[in-house]
Amino acid sequence: MTDRTTRDEPAPFTAADFAARLQRAARSAEAAGLSGLLLTPGPDLLYLTGYAPVAITERITMLVVPVDGEPTMIVPRLERPDAEETPGASVFRLTDWSDGNDPYEATARLLGPGRYALSDSAWAMHLLGLQDRLPDMSCVSMTTALPMLRAIKDDDELERLAAAAAAADAAYGEILGVRFAGRRETDVGTDLAALLSRFGHSQVDFTVVGSGPNGANPHHEMGDRVIQDGDMVVLDFGGIKHGYGSDTTRTVHVGTPTDLEREVHEIVRRAQQAGFEAVRPGVECQEIDRAARALITEAGYGEYFIHRVGHGIGLTTHEPPYMVEGERQRMLPGMCFSIEPGIYLPGRFGVRIEDIVTVTAEGGRRLNRTPHEMAIVE
Ligand code: ZN
Ligand code: ZN
Ligand code: ZN
Repeated sequence: MTDRTTRDEPAPFTAADFAARLQRAARSAEAAGLSGLLLTPGPDLLYLTGYAPVAITERITMLVVPVDGEPTMIVPRLERPDAEETPGASVFRLTDWSDGNDPYEATARLLGPGRYALSDSAWAMHLLGLQDRLPDMSCVSMTTALPMLRAIKDDDELERLAAAAAAADAAYGEILGVRFAGRRETDVGTDLAALLSRFGHSQVDFTVVGSGPNGANPHHEMGDRVIQDGDMVVLDFGGIKHGYGSDTTRTVHVGTPTDLEREVHEIVRRAQQAGFEAVRPGVECQEIDRAARALITEAGYGEYFIHRVGHGIGLTTHEPPYMVEGERQRMLPGMCFSIEPGIYLPGRFGVRIEDIVTVTAEGGRRLNRTPHEMAIVE
């Protein structure tokens, strides 16, 4: 529990890293039969260039990556100095547009007609503006066209993900010592957020504190409910440290659990283990969901496991690949994702256990290391 913000920042990614990523993205786009990629600010642009504008505004910023030819980024003129300072600035050509001119006309000049993969989170007004100036251009979403763009993490990325997981684990270790009974869910959530920051997170994305019946709603974040002795409490928390995400869940109990609570928790623990043991290169992502789900279904709780078993994690806390029925993508070393089965008994309580796991040549490796056994808190 000594991980502090004083730990050295990892070395930043270099222009060579971004050049290699851009090359790989262009080849993937070509293989997918596309004319290129169109990226607006967000995780894909950050991944390919290191560029993240201070604020995402109505003024269009777009990186155009043709399948052959030079990547070009167009930015609002007032943001050009920031873009020039980007670590990856040497790997793309930079141009700008000024207020008073038509930004879509200027952007359209960088593209030919064709079919492009566009950032999932691009603003509709930007797409509509471009389509209006360039009727022979069509777009498909980045996730649909290139779901694996950021899915394989290199060693530097895995190191950051492991550091984020270790920080979340340290926060969990500390939260076990705080008082639960008699305090509101929001009080414990505030403690968790402070701990994530203390252990080096620059951003806290969520702190779920689902006590008693609230734990049976997987979308419950936290509320004013006062935690009681005898409550199960789902704790699901994560955020960003050194640019990469953490996300872990443990379910704790206030005071002595009942036999039913012990039984349900043990089934979820074994389901999480079964999902983990199914991880190895070449296995379809849906097999992880099936392995965990089969265990819960055989125990008679199948109808109470109401979500997919996991999601990818990297620059964001939810991204492809998804561990879900129907996902045929095969696992490759370097993929990193959650395994988080749960059982939710309406009106009573919920249990979820979540670890971040990465695929190695031999199988799965857990990035979260805290015990899965139900911890007893006060
Ligand atoms: Zn209880
Ligand atoms: Zn989570
Ligand atoms: Zn998750």
